[in-house]
Amino acid sequence: MGHIFLYGPPASGKSTVGQILAENLNLPFVDLDDRTRQAVGMDIPQVMAERGEPGFRDLEFVELEWLSKDADSVVALGGGTLLRNENLKRAESTGEIFYLDAGFPTLLKRLKGKPDSRSLLSGDLTEKLQGLLASRTVHYASFPNRIGVDGRTSGQIAWQIQVSLGRFFARGMGAGYEVTIRSGIIDSLGMLLQFHGLQNPIVVTDANVEKLHADHALGSLRRSNYKPSLLSVPAGESIKTLDTISTLWRGFLEAGLDRRSTVIALGGGVIGDMAGFAAATFMRGVDWVAVPTTLLSMVDASLGGKTGFDLLEGKNLIGSFHPPRLVLADPQVLSTLPAAELRSGMAEVVKHGIIADPDLFALCAGGQDIIGNDLTEIIRRAMAVKLKIIEDDPFEKGTRAALNLGHTVGHAVESVSGYRLRHGEAIAIGMVAETKLAEYLKIAGKGLSARISEVLSGLGLPTQIPKDLSKDKLIHAMEFDKKKAAGVVRFALPVEVGKVRVNVEVKDLELLFKEN
Ligand code: NAD
Ligand code: MG
Repeated sequence: MGHIFLYGPPASGKSTVGQILAENLNLPFVDLDDRTRQAVGMDIPQVMAERGEPGFRDLEFVELEWLSKDADSVVALGGGTLLRNENLKRAESTGEIFYLDAGFPTLLKRLKGKPDSRSLLSGDLTEKLQGLLASRTVHYASFPNRIGVDGRTSGQIAWQIQVSLGRFFARGMGAGYEVTIRSGIIDSLGMLLQFHGLQNPIVVTDANVEKLHADHALGSLRRSNYKPSLLSVPAGESIKTLDTISTLWRGFLEAGLDRRSTVIALGGGVIGDMAGFAAATFMRGVDWVAVPTTLLSMVDASLGGKTGFDLLEGKNLIGSFHPPRLVLADPQVLSTLPAAELRSGMAEVVKHGIIADPDLFALCAGGQDIIGNDLTEIIRRAMAVKLKIIEDDPFEKGTRAALNLGHTVGHAVESVSGYRLRHGEAIAIGMVAETKLAEYLKIAGKGLSARISEVLSGLGLPTQIPKDLSKDKLIHAMEFDKKKAAGVVRFALPVEVGKVRVNVEVKDLELLFKEN
């Protein structure tokens, strides 16, 4: 998918951020200065003294040439590497460049810590640094991907780069897996499977998605010399049953799948949950790849490794944790998704904003207009929130409960309404009701529920519990949920936008219906 190059003046943090980024993404880290130093067996000041700056840039060019033949890595460039036009071209054609934008005081302070290691800056530091920056002003200003460094930790900077690239590596369960959000990524499906050594793919999809997107996925696989099979089932939650799972298992056998085959789930959460579960159990577990095609499945269902199906007695009662090998989210496929499905997915996006990302929440305040626009950034940010949470708590022992925001009331509304409301609509209603509860309990300040409600209704989502749903039935439904959690009903409640409190025990559920 390409290298990630970090660029910027001396002491802007290229190596420090680069190492964190490489670790986060499970990629190798390369420090170009170190490579150059090793290649010639000399320190950089010595190279500069003996061969001059042009000689040094020549060496950098050779190292970049080597790199371009390697698998992806995170590369900390030298502070002037891209002054040489060939180097710039090489970097641009093999990856993406991020410029670390640090102010003069930050750079000076950091350089004072270790002045002698910076070859171009020996002598009077302030003067030299000023001179160097002045001579490179136009050059440094020419990089479009800029990341502000001042006042932020290297971890925050690395994460921002990941969000802006849409590239993550989910840890916490099994060996971990790459998560990529990029327009057109389905074109690279075959190539990525090959890169990861995944074999003999079968695409599992539903009737709607088959018509719209299956050829696209199959074409990409064929271009990489796979002979993919296709297994399509009817669409909708009502088929998320053991019967359909059996159909999948049998289909796998008929297609000649073995233990080294790969199941590709191309569809929304229903397909992801079922194909993932069928993969978890077929021959005691085969690899699978999630290619989510609804907004909800991108930002929620495809992440975290939960798979399963419904029983007549209730949703998602049977399942297993079986993380995919890859998650590939292609925002382009959302152009065919019905508006109501998009709206419903936006409820979970808003939820992720409330849980941990005020900027994401602010993006959601754009109302219905944003739905017709490119959702890539929104998807990347929303996925980033869930990824952080599942990494901290992969098996749902504690903090992952934050993701239940809006869901205690939401699930009750869904079931009492006889699933007349879509999941996202019920969650929108649930979030507002639960935020009012948080205000009443003085966990949140007054006005938060109004703010959230405004954003949700701006997106065309409902925010009030429908009048025809009986309070008693709703309370009863929440009590039933409670049995699964052994004891009291526990809520995840917002404190403010960007912060939730988990495990808030509420004994008197009538409080939810108080007018305040
Ligand atoms: P879905 O899979 O039923 O998809 C919704 C509808 O959109 C379907 O009719 C589908 O055919 C259609 N569709 C999908 N992609 C399309 C596209 N690109 N263009 C046009 N139509 C398209 O529903 P969903 O909302 O994606 O997922 C809901 C399911 O996800 C539920 O079963 C829920 O339990 C599950 N879920 C699982 C997790 C998890 O952690 N595993 C988390 C949240 C939800
Ligand atoms: Mg949900």
